Amino acid sequence: SSTTLLGASDIRRIAAEAGISPTKKLGQNFVIDPGTVRRIVREAGIEADDLVLEVGPGLGSLTLGILECDAELTAVEIDRSLARRLPQTVAAYSETGASRIHIINQDALAIKPADLPDEYSERDFTLVANLPYNVATPILLTLLQRFSHLDRFLVMVQKEVADRLVAAPGSKIYGAPSAKIAWYGKAAPAGHIGRNVFWPAPNVDSALVSFERRHREDRISDHRDSVFALVDAAFQQRRKTLHAALRGRIGDYAYQISGIDPTRRGETLTIEEFLMLEQAARQEQA
Ligand code: SAM
Repeated sequence: SSTTLLGASDIRRIAAEAGISPTKKLGQNFVIDPGTVRRIVREAGIEADDLVLEVGPGLGSLTLGILECDAELTAVEIDRSLARRLPQTVAAYSETGASRIHIINQDALAIKPADLPDEYSERDFTLVANLPYNVATPILLTLLQRFSHLDRFLVMVQKEVADRLVAAPGSKIYGAPSAKIAWYGKAAPAGHIGRNVFWPAPNVDSALVSFERRHREDRISDHRDSVFALVDAAFQQRRKTLHAALRGRIGDYAYQISGIDPTRRGETLTIEEFLMLEQAARQEQA
């Protein structure tokens, strides 16, 4: 379709016209480089008629890139003035975009399936976003939990957050978010992004993370909350052995039947091992 992407001068002009000055509190750093937008959309593998969710469309940089692929898009933006301005930008820069976008002025942490068009409960969709940096991980975990059709994502986050999301057991930065993301599927690094593609430029580097859901998890999702509670307990005291960190939750017999050594530390366990431990604890209590 005929869509024009936003450059630095477009971004500044739209912001000035709408009286918008970016706030740090909402992580507002807008992409001013069409090359970066194309790269994100290409990494996301968006094809015509794909169903896409964007969190935090901002002034519309990435939004237009997604619309350029002729995808069906819902964009969830917490900032009222940005959400109100977006239709005008889409109409001005994209010939067909207006008929393919649905804009919701809401906190992404609060959206439920009923807030999105029915399609998002019926077929798989992809999340594509340049996430607000302070809430990136909670947004990802909340959406994965609430939307079983959230099948893939390609997001831009702070470099340190990206490293943690894709970290493997045993590494220093493997933590509760790494283990919880792994419950749902496989996250992988998808590239580095410098600071100069944003306005205003953030004082941290960014990175892309891709993710594919593993649908096997649906069978065992009844136990997700109790597995996550174990993960949280293990990482709250990450220097301690499992035996010490999970005292009162996991008894000797559960270590025996799961075959997991109680002198290990939580930071060495895969999510599958956390699940084995949780299952053993349930057997122990039965
Ligand atoms: N997508 C735009 C871009 O790439 O230029 C903007 C990205 S900016 C890093 C993050 C955006 O998320 C901002 O527009 C901000 O207002 C919005 N935002 C922050 N917290 C949010 C939340 N909890 N729910 C939805 N949007 C949020």
